[in-house]
Amino acid sequence: MSSLFPNYGRWPIRIVKGEGNYLWDEAGNPYLDFVSGIAVTSLGNVPPKVKAQVQEQLDTLWHCSNLFEIPIQEKLAEKLVSLTCGDRAFFCNSGAEANEAAIKLARRYTQKILQQNRYEIITFTQSFHGRTLATLTATGQAKVKEGFAPLPEGFTIVPYNDGEALAAAITDKTCAIMLEMVQGEGGVHPASPEFVEQIQTLCAEHNLLLIVDEVQTGIGRTGKWFAHQHYDIQPDIITMAKGLGSGFPIGAMIGKEKLAEAFGPGSHGTTFGGNPLACAAGLATLETIEEDDYLSRVNEMSAYLTGKLHELAAVHPEVVAVRGKGLLLGVELKIEAAPLVEKMRKERILLLQAGPNVLRLLPPFTIEKEEIDRAVQVLDSTLRLSAAATPSS
Ligand SMILES: *Cc1c(COP(=O)(O)O)cnc(C)c1O
Repeated sequence: MSSLFPNYGRWPIRIVKGEGNYLWDEAGNPYLDFVSGIAVTSLGNVPPKVKAQVQEQLDTLWHCSNLFEIPIQEKLAEKLVSLTCGDRAFFCNSGAEANEAAIKLARRYTQKILQQNRYEIITFTQSFHGRTLATLTATGQAKVKEGFAPLPEGFTIVPYNDGEALAAAITDKTCAIMLEMVQGEGGVHPASPEFVEQIQTLCAEHNLLLIVDEVQTGIGRTGKWFAHQHYDIQPDIITMAKGLGSGFPIGAMIGKEKLAEAFGPGSHGTTFGGNPLACAAGLATLETIEEDDYLSRVNEMSAYLTGKLHELAAVHPEVVAVRGKGLLLGVELKIEAAPLVEKMRKERILLLQAGPNVLRLLPPFTIEKEEIDRAVQVLDSTLRLSAAATPSS
């Protein structure tokens, strides 16, 4: 019997080592990694440049309270601000905490600075924003909420990509809209350009803050630094986490200058947020993406992988759609995704699902064309076998 809580539906492989685009189990079997720790290890497992900078930081300073000024934290903040339309950074340890900070900042700005009694945040169906009480309430999926009542008030969930429903849901209590530009957990659904334009208009009309949750899509995953940069918008708040530290836990919230005063001394905080080791990992990750031009590589590999997936779709009637951005790709199927994921795993290729019938592919930016070829080849034969096994509809 395990000493761990059984809260994860774990896959029956025991991972002990990672290097580049592969993970190894206890028996020494390599697995080709199209999961990247769910969009975390974007530069591959144990990326050498990040490792070197974290090792250097290990010799210098591990932890320092936010009671002090911390130069490496300021340096990472400057770097992130330079990559976005934001002006200020707050650091934490996870995506949920970054979104929690965004929710708190939106409410506090509206109530303390604008002096208005508005607090509702509109989010969307099939969204995912985290597992704290506030962020699971914001999440547009019932399964994460079961048994956790009472939930905090002040969240309204409306259909994604539906501008009319959104406009109708805004009340005199609404203070912000929070969305993912590509819904990751919810089935790899990108926001439509018309929808994003409507959001921008509605925010201006009703003086609402726009919070973009880039926890999965940020830090190059979609081929730009942030997914909202594919659209013509300027969010007030941007949250990020997964890919920021190459596997070292770190989250961040970036906000516009007008919000700074709402987070005055003592208003919000965390012990570990902006920890020097985490900041070293974050800085090294951003510098490596820049120096080695990984954004171009994401776009190149995305075009290659998407092309191969479309070829599969052309010969497999089970494939309904291929969608996504950069190296966050979804393959929607007419059949259940879980058995396919399991069969692929038996062939030592790791990929994910996003909802019951969508395969989610999140390879590291370091993925090679030959590795894509191999993965797609195995997916092709796995689909063939599945089609033979299930009666066609
Ligand atoms: C993973 C994820 C989160 C939650 O991040 P944690 O680090 O697990 O708390 C929030 N939003 C999105 C879009 C995510 O993909």
